[in-house]
Amino acid sequence: MSVRHLYLHLPFCPSICPYCSFHVERVDRKKMDRFAARLEADLRDTGPMDALETVYFGGGTPTAFSTTQLEAILDVVDRFVPRPRDCETTMEANPSTLPAEKCRMLRARGINRISLGAQSFDDEVLKTLGRHHSSAAIRVAWEYLRAAGFNNLNLDLIFGVPGQTLETWESTLRAALELKPDHLSCYNLTYEEDTPYMDRLRQGICHEDDDCNETMFTRAEDLLSDAGWHHYEISNYARSGFECRHNVAYWTGRDYLGVGPSAVSTVRGKRWKMADGRRVEMESLSAELRAREQALLELRTSRGTAADFFRFEQWKPLVEHGFAVFENDRLVLTREGRLRADEIAVHLC
Ligand code: SF4
Repeated sequence: MSVRHLYLHLPFCPSICPYCSFHVERVDRKKMDRFAARLEADLRDTGPMDALETVYFGGGTPTAFSTTQLEAILDVVDRFVPRPRDCETTMEANPSTLPAEKCRMLRARGINRISLGAQSFDDEVLKTLGRHHSSAAIRVAWEYLRAAGFNNLNLDLIFGVPGQTLETWESTLRAALELKPDHLSCYNLTYEEDTPYMDRLRQGICHEDDDCNETMFTRAEDLLSDAGWHHYEISNYARSGFECRHNVAYWTGRDYLGVGPSAVSTVRGKRWKMADGRRVEMESLSAELRAREQALLELRTSRGTAADFFRFEQWKPLVEHGFAVFENDRLVLTREGRLRADEIAVHLC
């Protein structure tokens, strides 16, 4: 199958964060032991693959598996997944699940990029988010990762958390920069259906403050741009040359395979999920729908997209209102546009 990008879903976490809407289960050593066998069956059903350009172990928290379990999973992956030396292989990790030995094993087994779910360097904010690590634990995990030889590291950060101030957000950004990461993802907290956070929002225990979120977004953009970072997608910043190739593949409409309980695949105009060894929720995507999806994703990137994906009367008001400009014949969002990217996507649909 000539697909160059693979996502592997490892759906376990030490605890479930109250804002999380992903398919995720609490750590259960027995279930996790059985996971490698199930992954093997899913990969076998997927059939032979060509050499991959990117592999992404996402979650859940893949590093919630023990070192021995992860080795067993990597044994399975190595049997079915051709990963050349230059394949970008990312694993998502949590600071509380990264002892030094696990870091060394992952590096030795060809994981060459780690995305660390730090979220904040403020211990109060971490508590509000229901995270079980401290800012000190982030720094310890970071040292282990660098010592193990990782030279491509991302930190995930969240803003818009109840009780978080502009000052604490700025301190988090500065603390993150002190660690000299290669990539930063800055996400605005969202309130998703069927989460304890959504219940709190409905009960008025917390509230969303759009003005504050905008200020935090622009503060991050200013601070990181001044420090020379490339803001290459609404939520993503990279040092030059460290853009995440896996995500760029999604945003530029490349085909990808997903394996694991809620992983999605999109290959040659078809989209499906794997469940119990079979493809479910199979959907045919017309060329027009694929092109439109790609355009909407590209519009979130600093390269923008070709305007001819949209009707003239759709994009013209964006330019007139200063939400987008033309750069090299491509429609690119301005800062005002980036702040309203979700509304703009709805307008363009
Ligand atoms: S660590 Fe990530 S995947 Fe796991 S529960 Fe928290 S937000 Fe969800």
